[in-house]
Amino acid sequence: MQVYRLPALSDNYIFLLHDPLQNLAAVVDPADAVPVLHCLKTLGAELVAILNTHHHADHVGGNTRLLQQFPEAVVCGGAEDRDRIPGQQVFLRDGDRVSFGDRDAEVLFVPGHTRAHIAYYFAPVTPNEAGQLFCGDTLFSGGCGRLFEGTPTQMVQSLSKLRALPDNTCVWCAHEYTLKNLEFALTVDRANAALQQRFAEVKASRSRNEATIPSNLGVEKHTNPFLRWDNVEIQAIVQSGNGIQTFARLRGMKDQF
Ligand code: ZN
Ligand code: FE
Repeated sequence: MQVYRLPALSDNYIFLLHDPLQNLAAVVDPADAVPVLHCLKTLGAELVAILNTHHHADHVGGNTRLLQQFPEAVVCGGAEDRDRIPGQQVFLRDGDRVSFGDRDAEVLFVPGHTRAHIAYYFAPVTPNEAGQLFCGDTLFSGGCGRLFEGTPTQMVQSLSKLRALPDNTCVWCAHEYTLKNLEFALTVDRANAALQQRFAEVKASRSRNEATIPSNLGVEKHTNPFLRWDNVEIQAIVQSGNGIQTFARLRGMKDQF
């Protein structure tokens, strides 16, 4: 399975999954149909599925036009997103599986950013391969999504599920927010050498206009404060001995940043 990263709107990424054997494609969170149609044309591939993580317009904006061009494509989303995702036909719950070509994604229910948010995880098929996580606006590179419809408790549960995946997992999040996220992370976790080094690398990449997605989950575990609510040093910085409260304080600080 090949993943194509398509920039859209101001800072979104759309991910087009291509199965070269059968020349089939699926798309994750099509903010806009135009770049997707262009990529499909270049590949000469047929779109068989739209995989939405949640209902926000910058994730579903291209659904209707893509369905006009590919009426057979199946639109998948979270079960709780009923009526909010244009064209949705498949209503997914935690642990459900979605097949694409010779692959199979596991659905992870990850509420917090919205009450219905899901992520898609393609586990590795061979031992030298990495898993591919499509997590929408739940986990970002260096950060996490805002809590629009969920609580800190829910978001910590959701991020715990993602954090439990193997370190070499590729994290395909839906926005290019890494630099700004790491700027914030450094304000709380200044002494973290891994974070300082990552910030320098990301700053250099962005100055060359390079994408920072996919990110690596192992790197996230060490440098993303929103995956470190149970780290004693982070807890001391935000003056909390409690994981949920630590997360909530970090999220509140980031909202003001
Ligand atoms: Zn969103
Ligand atoms: Fe978004």
